Formats: sequence, structure tokens, C-alpha cells
Amino acid sequence: MTFLSLGLIDPLLRTLDELAYSTPTPVQAKAIPAVLAGRDLMAAAQTGTGKTAGFALPLLQSLTLAGQVAPQSVRVLVLVPTRELAEQVYDSFRRYGSKLPLRSYVAYGGVPIEPQLSKLRKGLDVLVATPGRLLDLYGQNAVKFDQVQTLVLDEADRMLDLGFARELDVVFAALPAQRQTLLFSATFSAPIRALAGKLLRDPLSIEV
Ligand code: AMP
Repeated sequence: MTFLSLGLIDPLLRTLDELAYSTPTPVQAKAIPAVLAGRDLMAAAQTGTGKTAGFALPLLQSLTLAGQVAPQSVRVLVLVPTRELAEQVYDSFRRYGSKLPLRSYVAYGGVPIEPQLSKLRKGLDVLVATPGRLLDLYGQNAVKFDQVQTLVLDEADRMLDLGFARELDVVFAALPAQRQTLLFSATFSAPIRALAGKLLRDPLSIEV
């Protein structure tokens, strides 16, 4: 199994080569072709399994192949529970997308909102955010959801544990109904299954 055989394009393959990622991890081998094909995903994957590249690589590829759209529109929205994870996931998108003409940005609470407001107004393709700050930014019209093609919920169980259910519901209601949704969670508890049942369409289930 190679990244080439999973269907990744040349700029991503060259980046992976530079990072010395020689072989896809099990979650990457399953997730990458499914995400490229536009499928929804429900994945039980812990940190350390390579799950971030499992969604970031194919989403960066889909964005690149789709070409440019209106400058201010977020096309991939990644929701995460904490600022630490937000920084990590953002870092992954930047690293994996270093040879691609895409813009990524990260926004979380506990820091001033003004720099985030002005940065978002300049436009971006990928936004990684914690739910509370995302809603603040949305409420101030700094971000639009009408062009979101893919929603990623990373560590969805922790988002529910931290009490973000209401914020998540507000975001879901504002997103286009026609979209791809990828749900990553360490556990498949009853609340996570309920969330998946509400959000996912014919998802591929991955357990690693
Ligand atoms: P994650 O589970 O997404 O937090 O990734 C865990 C770590 O594995 C990160 O430091 C990645 O840089 C690294 N990693 C991800 N995929 C691969 C791969 N296919 N080969 C080598 N390292 C990888």
C-alpha cells in the first residue's frame, strides 16, 4: 500500500516524501479513498493513528481539484474541542498543503477576537475552529457557511463532554444540507451514535 495507490496527487506525494511518510497508516488507507470519493465517514480513531492526515490529505486534494471559488468562502470546516487540538490540526493542514495554493486558518477562544475577524475577512479555504469562538465569529458576520462542502468533527466525543452540543446544533443548522461530513471520535457512545445518525448519510465506518 502506498500513498500513490490511494490516488493522491503529485504535490501531496512530494510533500509526504519530504516528511518521510512512506506508508499510509490503517486509518489513512481506509479514509483517504473514501473522502476523495465524497463519502461520509464515521471513524473510531485515537490520536496517534494518523487520523489527521487521513482527512487533511484528501480534503486538500478535493479543494485543489475543485479550483478557486469566491474568495471569502470557507469550504472545509473542521470543528475541534480544544485550542491545543485546533493548533495541531491547523498545523497539519499547513504542512500537508505547503505546495498547494490554499489558505487555512485557525480560530479558538481565550484570545482576542479582532485579529481573527480581520484575517477571516480576507478569505480562506479551510477553517479549523472550536465551536464557541466559531459562533462568535459567525455572529459578527466574519465567516459564512454557505460554501462549506465538508464538515469535519474531530474528537467529537470530547466536544460533547465539554458541553458544546448546543453550539454544534447551531452550526449544523447554518451549514448547507448538501455536504460531506466526517466524524472522528475515540468512542462510539450512545450520544455519538445519535449525533452520527443525525448528521451522516450512508457513512463508511472505520475502526482501527
Ligand atoms: P495523528 O494521529 O493525526 O495525531 O498523527 C500522529 C503522528 O503521526 C503525527 O505526528 C503525524 O505527523 C504522524 N504520521 C501521520 N501519518 C503518518 C504516516 N503515514 N507515516 C509516518 N508518520 C505519520
